[in-house]
Amino acid sequence: MSVFIPEKIYGIIGYPLGHSLSPLLHNWGFSKSRIQAVYMSWPLEPENLDNFMKGFRTLPVSGASVTIPHKLAVRNFIDRETDRAKGAGAVNTLYWENGQLVGDNTDVAGCYAPLEAEADKIKTALVLGAGGAARAAVCGLQILKIDNISISNRTASKAQDLADEFQISHVDWDNRGKERYDLIINTTPLGMSGERIGICPMIMDNVESDTIVYDLVYNPLETELLKRASEKGAKTISGIEMFLHQGLEQFRIWTGKNLDPDSARELLLSKLR
Ligand code: NAP
Repeated sequence: MSVFIPEKIYGIIGYPLGHSLSPLLHNWGFSKSRIQAVYMSWPLEPENLDNFMKGFRTLPVSGASVTIPHKLAVRNFIDRETDRAKGAGAVNTLYWENGQLVGDNTDVAGCYAPLEAEADKIKTALVLGAGGAARAAVCGLQILKIDNISISNRTASKAQDLADEFQISHVDWDNRGKERYDLIINTTPLGMSGERIGICPMIMDNVESDTIVYDLVYNPLETELLKRASEKGAKTISGIEMFLHQGLEQFRIWTGKNLDPDSARELLLSKLR
């Protein structure tokens, strides 16, 4: 009988972690690529981040994913930040380089990857929400060179702050359905499984068959927003695409290897279904 002894340890920190799909994706990737590594789930309360990061530096941990609520605070414990982490103002990936602990951000690439093929057609975009995912979305849209970006949020001051920082437009939450946009991205948790399921974050009057509607929520796979957009004949993109692409990019950073996106998507969808 052969015994599996991992040579490298990775994991995810966040709180609460719930049923994160990251261990499934990365452990599958290690197995497919014949890499002797393991990826673990590390639920970590905010007050324990300091101690955890001390351990991270002394124990043989090769890298980690970082999720809510640590994406900002973890920046205090690293040696260097990549340009894309600086741009997004948040870190979701840790890795070692020449003895330095580096903080990177793959959410930005994960968010815009599913839009790349359509980028030429998108002239106007509306981002709903103004939290961490909204920042990643706005950064991604600017990388795709979409000039006319608007942002709308329940708390207007937060959207206004992001609009000022990224030099984009602000739209009042009550007016978010008044104009037509080529692309609408939901970055709020409205529509998520649990008490918010069934809530649509957008006023759909101006959603048309040539609108692209992208919901970063992926549980359920078909949110109320995507259901209503489909009924209008719009093209829809599920948040599982962002999750998939940010994860593939993390895997590439840690291992230098590309996983097959179609097989990885099938793996994630089989779990979610
Ligand atoms: P966050 O920083 O807490 O921001 C949440 C945003 O949603 C805020 O702008 C908040 O508005 C708004 N919001 C919350 N409850 C609302 C409500 N009842 N009505 C209207 N607006 C509401 O969270 P985040 O990190 O940006 O993540 C947001 C969501 O994005 C997550 O729930 C997750 O589903 C999704 N996400 C997906 C991926 C992926 O890989 N697909 C990755 C990251 C995030 P206020 O400012 O008014 O509070």
